Amino acid sequence: MTDKRKWLGEERRSKILSLLQETSSPLTGGALADKLNVSRQVVVQDISLLKARNIPITATSQGYVLTEEKGNTLPYSRLVPCKHSPERTEEELHLLVDHGIMVKDVKIKHPVYGDISSPIMVSNRKEVKQFLTRIKETGASFLLELTEGIHFHTLEAKSEEDLDEALAALNEAGILLEEN
Ligand SMILES: [Zn+2]
Repeated sequence: MTDKRKWLGEERRSKILSLLQETSSPLTGGALADKLNVSRQVVVQDISLLKARNIPITATSQGYVLTEEKGNTLPYSRLVPCKHSPERTEEELHLLVDHGIMVKDVKIKHPVYGDISSPIMVSNRKEVKQFLTRIKETGASFLLELTEGIHFHTLEAKSEEDLDEALAALNEAGILLEEN
């Protein structure tokens, strides 16, 4: 960025929004501040203002990301029991998003810690990649190890058929947990 002028108010906030839309990886407050020639504090305030308008910006350990809203509006939802090792997480998520599925979260039922849920929010391979980078940084894959790989995913789709096909594929991959 060679643009050295100070970005002001509303113009700056829409610039932040478009920078977040353009990038595939999270942007830190510092990186945004550099691009806009303002302090990090100004960026933090702008992000708060944008969030106050229900713009879905999430602060991750890697920086700010824009969570696309499309996934929140898919009409069909199912809670699916799965079992796999942490090493197969990528394979499982690819299989799901390739079937047009939005993976909303992961839940475990632990005898001691109770129900623990963590957002995933991925609907394509690019988002899967970002998610995996994020959990690698935070060590969040421990969730699976607590319950010997048994967990639940909330899945969303455009149709029941998409969900049925995705579940069949999970079953074939030996990931779907049979409820007997
Ligand atoms: Zn899983």
